[in-house]
Amino acid sequence: MLDIKKIREDFPILKRQVNGKPLVYLDNAATSQTPQQVIDVIVDYYQNYNANIHRGVHTLSQEATDKYEQARIKIQKHFNAAKSYEIIFTSGTTHSINLVANGFSALIKKGDEVLVSAMEHHSNIVPWQMLCERTGAILKVIPMNQEGELRMDVYDELLSDKTKLVFCNHISNALGTINPIEEIIEKAHKVGAAVLIDGAQAAPHLVTDVQALDVDFYTCSAHKICGPTGEGMLYGKEEWLNKLPPYQGGGEMIAEVTFEKTTYADLPHKFEAGTPNICGGIAFGAALDYMNAIGFDEIAKYEHELLDYATQELLKIDGLKIYGTAKNKTSVISFNIEGIHPYDIGSILDKLGIAVRTGHHCAQPIMDFFKIPGTVRASFAFYNTKEEVDILVAGVLKAKSMLL
Ligand code: PMP
Repeated sequence: MLDIKKIREDFPILKRQVNGKPLVYLDNAATSQTPQQVIDVIVDYYQNYNANIHRGVHTLSQEATDKYEQARIKIQKHFNAAKSYEIIFTSGTTHSINLVANGFSALIKKGDEVLVSAMEHHSNIVPWQMLCERTGAILKVIPMNQEGELRMDVYDELLSDKTKLVFCNHISNALGTINPIEEIIEKAHKVGAAVLIDGAQAAPHLVTDVQALDVDFYTCSAHKICGPTGEGMLYGKEEWLNKLPPYQGGGEMIAEVTFEKTTYADLPHKFEAGTPNICGGIAFGAALDYMNAIGFDEIAKYEHELLDYATQELLKIDGLKIYGTAKNKTSVISFNIEGIHPYDIGSILDKLGIAVRTGHHCAQPIMDFFKIPGTVRASFAFYNTKEEVDILVAGVLKAKSMLL
């Protein structure tokens, strides 16, 4: 069982007050908080071995390079990638998806089809729309039902030998639905399509084995798993990463440059142009160490308790509707109260020190599907408590009494 009191001690920010009240941080799906263990790693980098990597002969550069490459291996092990060079450091999920979408311009042609799920974050829609505009490929949508689950029967009908790519999130940021990615990947492969899974919302809650899944691309952002912002990773199968052209040109990604011709570096450097977020990569590794030491099984179990409790208590409020009621979901609750704009509820909760997200959560097609302008989203992490759920419920009741 998790010792939540002790875990909370690791997070200095949880001690602060907001608007004169103790902070109740329930915006974890947007970004998670950072434990002291990771903050220490960031400070240590800048205090003791800040240097550019891969090209320096001096000691600091060697130390920074070693730590950065060790972090890559930690990430490789965590996601069970076969090779460390199948892990590309990026600035986050958005960067990773753009890298793949850009590369597919060279591999896709007019009339080819790409499938996207109806519950994607904008960062897993827009880059593919741009790809389709560039190439003349056709974007098709796998719809969802009222519970916020993908219509797998329609997915079966959409798949054909024209399908070249399928992209889907592992877990929806707006609804919390855990998608059946095993089935999605297996069926896509049967028609010869490649699959990219956006793991931004899955990485904080569960461990993904990319080899067992046989997924072609998988991506996540460090800031949602207790790491820093502006840092993330793209896993790509070696064969795919070799097929894709580089995304950005610059230093680090070359083998040889003349004005006549440039040859590219081997993986992973081919996709890592310029000076990377060195400290961010190292801190990403430290964040995974931190979460693995707590244990993802324990985290998932505890977060489910919080989810069940919060769902049960919030549903006691008259007029409150939860969007995303899939059987298989993580600790995200998107809701509205009839007759009240989500922004107004969020603003009152903020006055009470409670941080939630309001709006479309960068997933406007989901809001259009439910015919709503947005939702209030409370998303729970392993350092949240049942007491905080009670404070949220009391806050929502207070907001309701003030606004109706
Ligand atoms: N996909 C999903 C499902 C997300 O939740 C997010 C972040 N909200 C992203 C992609 C984008 O991540 P980032 O902003 O770190 O690139």
